[in-house]
Formats: sequence, C-alpha cells, structure tokens
Amino acid sequence: MSLPHSSNGEHLAFEASATGRPGEHAGSSRRHGCIEVVCGSMFSGKTEELLRRVKRARLARQRVVLFKPRIDNRYDDVKVVSHEGLKADATPVGSSSELLAEVKRHGASLPDVIGIDEAQFFDDGIVDAAEQLANEGVRVICAGLDQDYLGKPFGPMPALMCIAEYVTKLQAVCSRCGAAACRSQRLVGMEGQLFVGGAADYEPRCRRCFVAGVVDVAGGPPARG
Ligand SMILES: [Zn+2]
Repeated sequence: MSLPHSSNGEHLAFEASATGRPGEHAGSSRRHGCIEVVCGSMFSGKTEELLRRVKRARLARQRVVLFKPRIDNRYDDVKVVSHEGLKADATPVGSSSELLAEVKRHGASLPDVIGIDEAQFFDDGIVDAAEQLANEGVRVICAGLDQDYLGKPFGPMPALMCIAEYVTKLQAVCSRCGAAACRSQRLVGMEGQLFVGGAADYEPRCRRCFVAGVVDVAGGPPARG
C-alpha cells in the first residue's frame, strides 16, 4: 500500500477543544466526539479491531459501552464475540431508538466510548443516533459489513461511512485465489440480508471470484455445523 498512514482510521485520544486547556482528556465536559467506522467483508477482522479499540479505551479508564443488534446471536447473547474467539460484554438492542434509550438511561453523564458491532443490521435511525452521540462528545465506533451477500451496500453502513471522521476498510484473504477479499460469498442457506450465518456459511472472496447471491461450494468440503 502506498497510501499515507497519518491516521490508522482511529481517533486515538480525546484532544482538548479549541477553548479547552492543553492536557484535558476523556473526563472533560468539552471533549470531542467523533464517529469511526470499521468495515469490510466477513473474516476481515472487523470485530477484532472494534474490540482492540474498546480494550485500549478501557485501559485508559474511559467509560465504554458496547452494543450489538439483538438479531445476532450466533455465539453469545450478551457478548460481542469475534470469529477468533475474542469477546466482550455487550448490550443487545433491537433498534437504534432502544440503543439511544439505553445510553440515556445512565443519566446526563454519557459514556466516553460507544462501540456498535454488526452495525449493518441496525435500522437507518442508527445514523442519526451516532451523529447525535458524537455531537454530544461521545466517540462512536461502528463495526459492520459494508456489503451484503449480493455485493451491495449493506443497510446504514454507507451513510455511517459518509458521516464518519475515520473509516477503516479491512480486507480478508480470498478463499479461492488468495487475493485481498472485499466480499462475503454466501455458500448455503437462506436468501435475504437478515440471514445471520456462521463461519461455515460464508467465505471471503475477491472481486473476481465473488458470485452475487448464494452458491454451492463446488469441489469444496461439505459445510459443517
Ligand atoms: Zn479471488
């Protein structure tokens, strides 16, 4: 990659505002909010990256709340779990308004950081919710699939990427040719965006090897539960 890396797509620290004192940080009422998006295909490490950022914020004693859509219960009902097995406690919510209500439930003092996993499954209201929270000084980190199994923009992700200060697009490795993979090939199962599959139901593929829709694994091993 020849792109400059002045930023890794991550808002590393709360800077003091223009009128704030130097050295002010997370506890300041004048802190800067922002939106970060971590996106990519299945197996690109999105959730690992979200959890890495969340862990570092917690190590800095920032207050972090992690959310996930209630629909995603592949591994655990109350945790965000990556394919690699990393996990963290998360509050499952059914909608963006439920997420906002849950955040406000803690009173006037908002968390420093809000992490949202599988953001593509949220309703479009998640865009305004993220914007509102960031305007109120919260660092909002959204992780999710940027494309669905047809290779189309997924739910609110394009709008979130548009309003975000920082966007990180991660790549997996194409299971067919080894190139950088930006798409999630659905191998078996149901049609429709809301099908939440596990590792056996998808494989990462590059642009050339991707086939929009559902395919059988030709010549591959049978899918196992
Ligand atoms: Zn390929």
